[in-house]
Formats: sequence, structure tokens, C-alpha cells
Amino acid sequence: MTDSTQVALLGMDRNELGALAERLDEPAYRAQQLLEAVYRQRVESVEQISTLPQQLRAKLAEKNVSVGVPRIEQRFVSVDGTVRYLLAFADGQSVETVWMPEGDGGEASEAEAGDSEVRGAARGWGRATICISSQVGCAVDCQFCLTALLGVKRNLTAGEIVGQVLAVLKDQKVSPQHDRINLVFMGMGEPFLNYDNFIKAVRLLVQEVGLAESRMTVSTAGIVPRIHDFGQEEIRPRLAISLNASNDDQRTKLMPLNKKYNLGMLIAAARAFPLRNRERVTFEYVLLHNVNDLPENAREVVELLRGIKARMNLIALNPGPGIDFETPADEAVAAFQQILRDAGILTFVRRPRGRDIYAACGQLKRTVEIATAPVP
Ligand code: SF4
Repeated sequence: MTDSTQVALLGMDRNELGALAERLDEPAYRAQQLLEAVYRQRVESVEQISTLPQQLRAKLAEKNVSVGVPRIEQRFVSVDGTVRYLLAFADGQSVETVWMPEGDGGEASEAEAGDSEVRGAARGWGRATICISSQVGCAVDCQFCLTALLGVKRNLTAGEIVGQVLAVLKDQKVSPQHDRINLVFMGMGEPFLNYDNFIKAVRLLVQEVGLAESRMTVSTAGIVPRIHDFGQEEIRPRLAISLNASNDDQRTKLMPLNKKYNLGMLIAAARAFPLRNRERVTFEYVLLHNVNDLPENAREVVELLRGIKARMNLIALNPGPGIDFETPADEAVAAFQQILRDAGILTFVRRPRGRDIYAACGQLKRTVEIATAPVP
């Protein structure tokens, strides 16, 4: 480690912090102190790590070691309580992270109430969901998604992924030990195109931050080889697949990625996915008026999912400038849902959250020019 290299503690696991302590000629137990400070106490600077002697804190600062928590650049608050954060990293790049008290009626909404839910209810919410990003922008180019318009700027590091969660927990004054917090990897980016950093972040979030893997869901547009790898992970969130079409022609038009990994490959991967007790593969389907929201599409989806232990989340398109599709009528959404339910598929309609502040699904593109004033 040279003195000019910036080193972030956030993103390091127990072994890496142990190696750092060794390089600094410090005893091995420093690794535990650093883990506690960074992931549990959520300190923002080395100076705040009160368990370390002052001399060591000075040494860390001298060696350019920082914690590496992202800075909250802007915060937009929706009328429905959703908060969209614009979080900036050391190199000036930024991503969006969304806090949704009460979630969106989608993933992880079925579980039973507990003490934490009662505690949250006193503040107006029983459970909350944090939606985090895995890349700056996205390369996948789904035609109904505003994030796609950004292209991909870079991958996030494991520390930057975990840092989003810590920044929001701190800002909302909540913790996974006391509050019912769900996490979804459904913000900007395709997590399976940044697989190693994503999975390292998952391990840190479970083992060090204390989030339950059963309350975490990752959504992929369908990177088939990584779905197979993901199924082999010892620690992993639940799997969601962004389906959005009922046949290959339509899916290739809406999601060009389908040319590489077509529906046959994708559905085969879902079918082979090793599910745990009481687990299902979630499918997400953005309904676009008169494009993929017709009864025949619903019937094709039923055929595709036959024999898979699935649940379906339907999302009526969240509109945005530059998106050439329209939001379907409520009746079309209800009819689509009914066809799936009649076929025995557990099907939910996700409530749009934070549409007024561009925080809803497919709307994350670092929009700052909106009527709602950012909260200082
Ligand atoms: S929907 Fe997801 S995978 Fe598709 S472009 Fe948007 S962020 Fe990327």
C-alpha cells in the first residue's frame, strides 16, 4: 500500500481487513474492530472509529485509508413516502437508490408480521424495501426503461453496492437488527453483468451488515450462464427474472438481450434453478398498452411458466420522457392478472412507488430536473 493510493474499508471482508492489519503491523483483532465499525456502527470516517487507538486512526488517515461511504448528493421525497437518493462516489459518478416504506406489494410482501413490524408501524410503516443499483447506468437496453438511455458508465465495486444500503439505513435511522428491511437489486444496472462484485456485496450484507438473505431479491434481465452460477451460491438472495414478453419475437424487440439468451434458454434456466424450501422464482412483467398486455400474451405466459414454481409480479409501465410506450388501462392489467391466476400462477400487481419523483421501476436515470424540490 503506497501512501498515495486511496483505500476504502467498505467492501473489504474479514480476510482483507486482516491482511490490512498485518500490513500495518497491527494485531489480528483489529479486523474485527474494523468490521464492527464499518458495517454495524456505520461510521463515516476513520476518525469516528473510537475502538481504535488515536495513533492507529492517524496512521490510517496518513495512508489514505477512508471508509468510503457514498455521499448523499440529493434526496427527492414522493407524496407516497418513497425517497429517491442520488448517491455520489469518490470519482464523482453517481447512482440512484430508493427507499420504499411499505414496499410496493411485490417481492417479500407475504411474510408474517413481527416485533420489528410493530416498531415500524409506530412510525407509519411496517416494513420497508431498499432498491439498490449495481452499475452506473445499464448496457442491457430494455426499450421501456429510462436507465437504458444512460448506457453503462462503469460497474460498482462491492463497497459501493454495500455503501448504498448503509447510507440509506443511516439516513432513515433504521437497522436490520430492529426493523423489517427488504432489499432488492432492481435499481440501475444488471447485477449479473457485475457478478463478482454483486455476490461479494451480498455476502457482506448478510454476514456483516446483518440483512437476511431471504429478504433479498436480485432481478436479472436474463444473463443465462450467471443464473446457473447463482444457483450454486451458498449465500444468495431470491431470484427474479425480468420477463416482459410472452414470445421470442416480442421479447427481442423489447429486450435485445433476448437475441443472445432466448426464451427457451431462459425458461430452461429457471426450470433448473435449485429452489430452497418455500422458495419460488419470481417473474416480473412490465405491461405495455397494446403491446404485451393482451389476453393472448397472458395465455402464452401461462404456457411458458407451466411446471415452474413461479410467482408473477405485474408492473403497469411507469411512463417517462423518451419512452415510446403507454401505460395500460387498469382493466387490461386486471384481465391479464386473472388469466394467470386462473391458471394457478401466484400473481401480484406491484403498486407504482414514487412515480412523481422518477423513483418507480424503470425510471431511474438520475433525473434532477423535476418539480419536486430536493430536500436539503
Ligand atoms: S430494465 Fe434493468 S436491465 Fe433493462 S435496461 Fe433497465 S436497468 Fe437495465
